[in-house]
Amino acid sequence: MDTINKDKSNLLYVFHKTSKLAVQKQNQTLFANQRKKENIMFIGEKKIDRPFRWGIVGGGRTSGVGYKHRLGAMRDNTSFVLKAAAFDLDFARCVDFGKNLNMDEERLYPDYKTMFAEEAKREDGIEAVDIATPNFQHFEVCKAALEAGLHVICEKPLFFKVEEGEEIKKLAEEKGKIVCVTYGFSGFDLLSQMRSMVLNGDIGEVTMVDLRYAHGFACDPTGDKQAEGQKWRVDPAKSGPSFVLGDLSTHTFYMSELICPQLKLKQLLCDRQSFIKSRAPLEDNAYVLMRYENGAVGRMWASAVNAGDMSSQHIRIVGTKASLEWNDMHPDELYYEVQGQPRQTLVRAMDYLNPEALEYERLGALHYTGLIESWSNLYTRFAIAMDAKNRGDEETLKNLVYPDLEHGIDGIRWVTKCVESADKGGVWVDFK
Ligand code: NAD
Repeated sequence: MDTINKDKSNLLYVFHKTSKLAVQKQNQTLFANQRKKENIMFIGEKKIDRPFRWGIVGGGRTSGVGYKHRLGAMRDNTSFVLKAAAFDLDFARCVDFGKNLNMDEERLYPDYKTMFAEEAKREDGIEAVDIATPNFQHFEVCKAALEAGLHVICEKPLFFKVEEGEEIKKLAEEKGKIVCVTYGFSGFDLLSQMRSMVLNGDIGEVTMVDLRYAHGFACDPTGDKQAEGQKWRVDPAKSGPSFVLGDLSTHTFYMSELICPQLKLKQLLCDRQSFIKSRAPLEDNAYVLMRYENGAVGRMWASAVNAGDMSSQHIRIVGTKASLEWNDMHPDELYYEVQGQPRQTLVRAMDYLNPEALEYERLGALHYTGLIESWSNLYTRFAIAMDAKNRGDEETLKNLVYPDLEHGIDGIRWVTKCVESADKGGVWVDFK
């Protein structure tokens, strides 16, 4: 990004209000982008030899998240191909749904145990499985999947206890398998740009991390009793020790780890509330303060009762020279604010971006992306990780940036420590 700072002509075309000259410059950039397209764009061609045969537990017709998994995994038909499913607690609904997806009926199963057992008998059985069930089942299904010799893609929050994460880590190592976590917003190209700019020192030393995942979707408590996908979220036996901390802030916390890998969280202080009283002890709103080992500080606001707001996640990283700001309602724009200069808007797919932000680029400039590209990028990386693991390619695994088991365990620790701090009356607690 140095060129953006130093080269004034370059600076012109990233200004919000473009001049005639800036438009000319932008067009030149577009043509340059076209010429570079063959080299820089990933337009769905395969990154591994063949797609993994893939199954899914949960994620059926009525589920909130299932379609995102299928679209992400099968976007290009080069990473995963859906072969088997235990989509639903209701087997008739699972079969009807699977048939409507043109799946082979004999590979639609009443439960995950039957699916793992039957698929293991087939020469063309599944090699990887997705866990998209409510939280309380993640651990048992993940364990069974690893024991059945499958790579795993699991929903967040990964499990309830850090010890469960450590147990799964040991098992995955023994079995030589990968466990990935679907922090589904973390595959946006401009988050990779933020990471590379932070690591390049473009904003100086990071001093403040400002995080927010606060919407108003659960202001109305009637859903707690009626909506299938909300009932379990406010039941501690099924959701875990938290509601919004686990359901929402684990995403944004991971994204801060992704963008600022050099920051290590030292301590946190959490205050949590149940504004809808029937949700207690689970919170529907929480504020968290953070202290990092290098002296940087941060805060997180997680809420499902932020009435009227559907704009979800905001991330601002402040450094000693400049700041970066991004939100998921406008994922193709990244604000870069250098102290003393006008704000710059960096736009997805433009060739002034760093290579990390262009590596998974599919659509090209002028064509806007959304959540599905983020999921597709993640699933492509999951497939690369699994393939590398199968081939014993540790170098690829070391350099691949994706939400892995360690990040999933960090997410469990985040929730556990936030709850501990809040339940002690809002005190500072050590993170590790
Ligand atoms: P949901 O209640 O809407 O759907 C759950 C589905 O799983 C239902 O179809 C149900 O029949 C099925 N199911 C439950 N137990 C099952 C079992 N044992 N075997 C087979 N199917 C089973 O829930 P949801 O909103 O889809 O959430 C599911 C998971 O996904 C949760 O862990 C949640 O935190 C996570 N989630 C993640 C994201 C994301 O962006 N990554 C978004 C939404 C939900």
